Amino acid sequence: MIGAVDIGGTKIAAGMVDKDGKVLSRVETPTTACGVYSDGIAHVARMLREAAHIANVELTGIGIGSTGWVFPFTGEFGDVDFFPGWKGCNPVKDLAHEFSVQAALENDGDASVLGEAAWGAGKGKSRLIYVTVGTGIGGGIILDGHLYRGANRSHPEVGHHVIDASGPQCTCGFRGCWEALATGTAMAAWFNNEAAATGSSGKTLTAKEIFQLAKTGNALAEKAVARENYYLGLGVANLINLFMPDMIVLGGSIMQSVQLDDLGKVVAQGCRFVPYKLTQLAQASLGADANLIGAARVWHHRYGKKASETF
Ligand SMILES: [Zn+2]
Repeated sequence: MIGAVDIGGTKIAAGMVDKDGKVLSRVETPTTACGVYSDGIAHVARMLREAAHIANVELTGIGIGSTGWVFPFTGEFGDVDFFPGWKGCNPVKDLAHEFSVQAALENDGDASVLGEAAWGAGKGKSRLIYVTVGTGIGGGIILDGHLYRGANRSHPEVGHHVIDASGPQCTCGFRGCWEALATGTAMAAWFNNEAAATGSSGKTLTAKEIFQLAKTGNALAEKAVARENYYLGLGVANLINLFMPDMIVLGGSIMQSVQLDDLGKVVAQGCRFVPYKLTQLAQASLGADANLIGAARVWHHRYGKKASETF
């Protein structure tokens, strides 16, 4: 039974996940409650014990998916925005020691693509890209059945390819990255700004509310939705032009409002030099526990019977 740990910007979750990717228990805490590393890791250990107790199982391995820059093969945190003091700390060593089991760590985008490839919509696809659209855009890439790693096993950031060089400032240093234009946060910021500028502003709306408003025929909301589909679709088209994967799986809260057909229409406007119709677009299928399930898969990917990477 794998203890899964999902370290995100707003919350840290722990749970027990069985060999088929089913979540048996789950506990979580706000990220802000974890503070300095020693407190944070003690908190994670407590949550793992609690999750094991709830599910009444014995923990036999630990898989961790974490936001930000991490070093999967040393087990260390790199620069993680949300935890400035955690750089160089090693949750793999510390949790393995605490529970006397093997532990493994990946970036959460990589964890999610491993989860979707093993137990989700991307099952059986040997060229698979997972994209999650949340407060940022992250993802992971599987090429020819293997998790793609860059130089020094680094994690590529699909959210930071530039869509519009004159677009809004991004946190990475460029302007107009996919992440700066196509997240729900970016969509809401554009809509609320426009609404304020034209004097039609009521209360500040979320992306979900803007999608709902568009259905009532509100012109500005319709424009915001069209804009969102266009920017989201452009990024998907770029991934298709660059990789021609079998499938792109899209997850994250905004995908509950976005229609894949609308993204497909944007893809069809370009991409004429690649057989883009061969790339299937799919909604992520692992639901609200996707990150936890992906974190558990990290352990299987590293240490399981069919582990594809033994180094
Ligand atoms: Zn960026």
